[in-house]
Amino acid sequence: MEENKKLPYTGRGKLVNSGEFSGLDSEEAKRKIVEKLEKLGLGRRKVTYRLRDWNVSRQRYWGTPIPVVYCERCGVVPVPEEELPVRLPLEVEFTGRGNPLETNEEFVNATCPKCGGPARRETDTMDTFFDSSWYFLRFTDPKNDRKPFDEEKANYWMPVDVYVGGIEHAVLHLLYARFFEKFLKDLGLVDYDEPFERLITQGMVLKKWVSIRRLLEGLGLDENATVGQLLEKLKEKGYLKEETK
Ligand SMILES: [Zn+2]
Repeated sequence: MEENKKLPYTGRGKLVNSGEFSGLDSEEAKRKIVEKLEKLGLGRRKVTYRLRDWNVSRQRYWGTPIPVVYCERCGVVPVPEEELPVRLPLEVEFTGRGNPLETNEEFVNATCPKCGGPARRETDTMDTFFDSSWYFLRFTDPKNDRKPFDEEKANYWMPVDVYVGGIEHAVLHLLYARFFEKFLKDLGLVDYDEPFERLITQGMVLKKWVSIRRLLEGLGLDENATVGQLLEKLKEKGYLKEETK
């Protein structure tokens, strides 16, 4: 684009030169324009979500093992169902370098389920997002040792009536969880569409801290000052209100 050409305004505001929509707030106008398109049969309202790619595997110890082995002859071979779950070994070395799982030979060296030859176990683990996307289903059937959860139990207890969490999860965890749910529905493992009926977001602790040493210095006190002296000073400076009885 040529430098002297002005770019169109894309923020919020009032519409101009827009016929019957002129003067409307842009948010209201969006609604009215869609309504009109719907009435004319030229378009319809649709909410679209964009689920970004996310990293499933990582070279670290904690995480869900990826149940595959690598065989020189057969290539990538899934671990048979009766051998699941693959458990993380406890004997690993944390050296600060590389993947700790690679330090456990017993874990790494596996047998190919297809040909019985030597194979190497996958040492990447799945990102913790993978677990947080469906853990609530496990609560419906926590003692099941054959599968992640029983379909009937999940369908009985789910969806979650009130989900409490931080607003920081609104665009990632919640979207992943919903995606998993829809995926499980497509597989026929659950019969409902959405995992959570209602979301309540609790407050968050924001970073706001005070250096005690600097505070004391600023008040003309030293580090041996008592709490009583500190409170006195804070009141004197007007930072604390006198208690009212
Ligand atoms: Zn093999």
